[in-house]
Amino acid sequence: MNELDNVLNSMKEKYREIFLKSADAIKDRVDEIKPIDFDGDIFDTYSSDSVGVSWQDAVLKMFEDDISHEIFRKWNEIIAYRQNFHCKGCATCCNLACSEFSPEELKLRAANGDNFAKQFTSIFIPYNSKEEFKDIYPEYIKLLEKHTDDDVYFYHCPKLNDCKKCSDYENRPQICRDFPDNPLCILPESCGFYEWRKEVEPVAMMLHAMVEIIDYYKKKIPNKKD
Ligand code: SF4
Ligand code: SF4
Repeated sequence: MNELDNVLNSMKEKYREIFLKSADAIKDRVDEIKPIDFDGDIFDTYSSDSVGVSWQDAVLKMFEDDISHEIFRKWNEIIAYRQNFHCKGCATCCNLACSEFSPEELKLRAANGDNFAKQFTSIFIPYNSKEEFKDIYPEYIKLLEKHTDDDVYFYHCPKLNDCKKCSDYENRPQICRDFPDNPLCILPESCGFYEWRKEVEPVAMMLHAMVEIIDYYKKKIPNKKD
C-alpha cells in the first residue's frame, strides 16, 4: 500500500467518524424542537394540520434558516483562511490537471455556458498519451486508477516552459490563482496549500457531512402535500 493509499484510507475513516458525530448532533437539534409529549418520528407521515407536520415544517425551516447558514459561514471562513497560505509555484497542478470530462465533453460544456469548463479549456490541453504524464505525480495517478471506476482525463498547460514552470506566472489566470478551492481535494506535499488543507480538513469534512445529512432528512421527510 503506498502513502497516498494510506492518506485516502485515513480520510475515509476520519470522515466516517465525523459523519456519525454530525448525524448525532443534527438529530439532537431535530429532537430539541420536537413538541413536548409528542411521540412520533420525524420521518413518519402525518395528516395536514397535525402536530407532526408542524414539527416537520419547523425542522425544514431550521435546516434552511439556521444550519445551512452556519455551514455557509464556516465554509467561507475556511476559504478565507486559505489567504494565509501561498502557491509555491511547484507547477504540479499545471503539469497534471485532471477532469472527469473528456476534451470533447469539456468543449461542449464550455459551449453551453459552463464557466469552469470555459476557463479550463482556455488554459489546459489534453495529454496525447499516458506515457507523457505518468512520471509527474505517479502515486496520484495510480491512486485514481485504483479507486475510480470512471474515466479520468489528464491535461497540461502549454504555458509551461522547458523547466516545467509557468512562463507567465505573474499574469496567471484567475482559475490558477484560485487553485485549490476545495479543502478536501488531494494535494501533493510540494503544494503551498498542503498545510492549509491539513488544518481545515476536519471542519471541511464536518460541513460536507452536514450537507449530506440534511439532504437525507429533506428527502426522507414526507411531503406534507402527499
Ligand atoms: S497559466 Fe501558468 S499557473 Fe496557470 S496552469 Fe498554466 S502554467 Fe500553471
Ligand atoms: S497551487 Fe500548489 S500544486 Fe499548484 S503550483 Fe501552486 S504550490 Fe504547486
